[in-house]
Amino acid sequence: MNGIRDARSYDLDALRERVLPETSGSVTESIPQLADADPAQCGIAIVTVDGEVRRSREADAVFSIQSAVKPFVFALALQDTDRAALERVGIEPTGEAFDAIKLESGTGRPPNPMVNAGALLTSSIVEGRNSDERAERIAAGLSAFAGRRLHVDEDIASAEQRLGDRNRALAHLMRSEGTLRVDADDAIGVYGRACATIVDAEALAVMGATLASGGVNPCTGEHVVSREVARDVISVMATCGVYDGSGRWMREVGVPAKSSVSGAIVLSVPGALGAAVFSPPLDEQGTSVRGHRASAILSDDLSLHSFGVPR
Ligand code: GLU
Repeated sequence: MNGIRDARSYDLDALRERVLPETSGSVTESIPQLADADPAQCGIAIVTVDGEVRRSREADAVFSIQSAVKPFVFALALQDTDRAALERVGIEPTGEAFDAIKLESGTGRPPNPMVNAGALLTSSIVEGRNSDERAERIAAGLSAFAGRRLHVDEDIASAEQRLGDRNRALAHLMRSEGTLRVDADDAIGVYGRACATIVDAEALAVMGATLASGGVNPCTGEHVVSREVARDVISVMATCGVYDGSGRWMREVGVPAKSSVSGAIVLSVPGALGAAVFSPPLDEQGTSVRGHRASAILSDDLSLHSFGVPR
């Protein structure tokens, strides 16, 4: 299997040292808590589908998961609706920024679950009779993906709610189209809490590995979502996970992944491994610069590229 044997002995500190000198990119200013991030931080982790965990220095540095939560919320929405969620959200790449005010033409659905409109929608259709229950379903589901209880940073959650004007616009637009069926503020609150979930690179890599092993957490053995759901999610990560940088990402890294504004990237290589890189400075598409670089090197070294022929 590509990657898995070499991943067990891969030197992630050496990889970290290689990408640390890269100082381009800038830390987001979307909310004060993210603007305060240390641009020098860099943590990397790999988790194989047989549960082997490897970490670099700072793989335990904590951050809010932000948009790297989107594949997992999509997975929970698919699981809870017996995959009927596929009728409520598109799966086509947009070629536009994460928060573009745009819905699928003709249907008024969000274009895909990896942009903000899509994640507002998917977080509104997980199991739960009200927003508190849906937020708790997401918290429990994310914890099962990570194999440990994850917590929400309340300051970040309230900043998301207070400063999320574009998300508010998207929620109201979907309400007007009839595609969002819960109250707009409820949708923003539940999605904002999901984004404010605190992880480290190791926890995020376990989450990626759970998708990569067909929905079974390789560290705890828990069946979190079905194999079909895991395949659906990884497919959409491959085509839409890096927003308007998805094409360049697929050529240069070739691994299904999801980027996030906090500087995290989660990767899922089906049947092989999950990985995560956290480093706050972002490029123009909102992808961690060191994360992109480290992922490209890792893909090359472990022959992970989906379309590469192993040497
Ligand atoms: N919480 C952020 C937002 O909704 C997430 C964006 C991202 O990570 O790309 O604006």
